[in-house]
Amino acid sequence: MRGIAGEKTLLKRLNRSAILRLVWAEPDISRSAVAEQIGITKSTVSQGVAELEEMGWLKSGASESVSTPGRPSLPLTLAVENFALIGAEIRVGQINVVAIDAYGKIISHAQSSGDYRQVSQALEHLEQNIRAVLIDQNLKNRTVLGVGIGVPGPVDIVQGLVLRAPNLGWKRIALQTMILERLPELPNLHVDNDANFAVFAEYMFGQHKQSADLLYLYIETGIGGGLILEHRLYRGRRGFAGEIGHMTVLPNGARCSCGNQGCAETLFSAWALSDAYKKETGREVSIEELLGLLEQQDPIAKRLISKAGMYLGLFLGSLANVFDPRLIIIGGQFSRLSKYILEPADKEIHKRLFGDEFRSIRLEPCAFGSNAAAIGAAGYVWNEFLQNAEELPQLKRGGTKA
Ligand SMILES: [Zn+2]
Repeated sequence: MRGIAGEKTLLKRLNRSAILRLVWAEPDISRSAVAEQIGITKSTVSQGVAELEEMGWLKSGASESVSTPGRPSLPLTLAVENFALIGAEIRVGQINVVAIDAYGKIISHAQSSGDYRQVSQALEHLEQNIRAVLIDQNLKNRTVLGVGIGVPGPVDIVQGLVLRAPNLGWKRIALQTMILERLPELPNLHVDNDANFAVFAEYMFGQHKQSADLLYLYIETGIGGGLILEHRLYRGRRGFAGEIGHMTVLPNGARCSCGNQGCAETLFSAWALSDAYKKETGREVSIEELLGLLEQQDPIAKRLISKAGMYLGLFLGSLANVFDPRLIIIGGQFSRLSKYILEPADKEIHKRLFGDEFRSIRLEPCAFGSNAAAIGAAGYVWNEFLQNAEELPQLKRGGTKA
């Protein structure tokens, strides 16, 4: 049982976490605004702030960007230069590792190519990339708070076990254990599905950050879905929620890699479009080439993209009727076609949406490009830290500014 002294310590820690969260969300906030919003006294705030400054988390004084006259005296900001978060994404042919600060800014980056259907090669390159980031000069004086690793398939997150990653050909791979055997020093390691992490890039650092309800479509070769409902990532019972690429959209449609017919992936994924173009012209095209054709007003490419956009909208309209999100984001390689695909998709969504006059659902391209899943993996770790850390570590002193 906790004694009174224990309760006091716990309260102190909870207050400290709450202050940290608030200063992160509202840089340059005043001490009195902190007191008001958390519902604690000003002297409790001052005490918490003094401790957080001592530990290297906070600093007083306006950040350079908003140092204007009339701001409250000694506003609070996060000492972002003292810590970092690492995120990684494993794809079929590429591993991408980033280190970011508390606002999603990339401070170090390492990337490699290989055949990552071979688990041993994936592990070896992942280790090399993470080590390269860890020894980067930009991280030398920062404390690394944690590491997130995204994979293209559902994950048992308790054990860090990749259940199935069809494009990698992985089944029941104990990724977390394997990584920790190579890098036992890594703190707070989280393994999860790439789309779950990609949605977190938007939730933590996007233009509509901290939106309570977000639907994210991660469209590459396949289609993954990431869903935030009431500020929480929705995984389903065993982590399979969001595997929406194999939802049937066209009952008698083309044969899908899963054996079924007319799945979403056969209508609006990178391979679906390339396949459709090949069927009509005999010519194989990449997303890049398709973009070029669209810019040249190629009539076949234009027709195919508006058809794909229509199916995308039909699909999203149905999902929006189930989840009622405020924002739907299209990410992955496919989002490079946004300029051409979002308009027909948006039109179709609003045709299918029940009660369209009562809600506005926005459809937008992902703002983080090919780094979305890696940035989001790091962002997820940061969010876990902000929400759950009762005990904050003493940080290294990274910057020149105290
Ligand atoms: Zn399928």
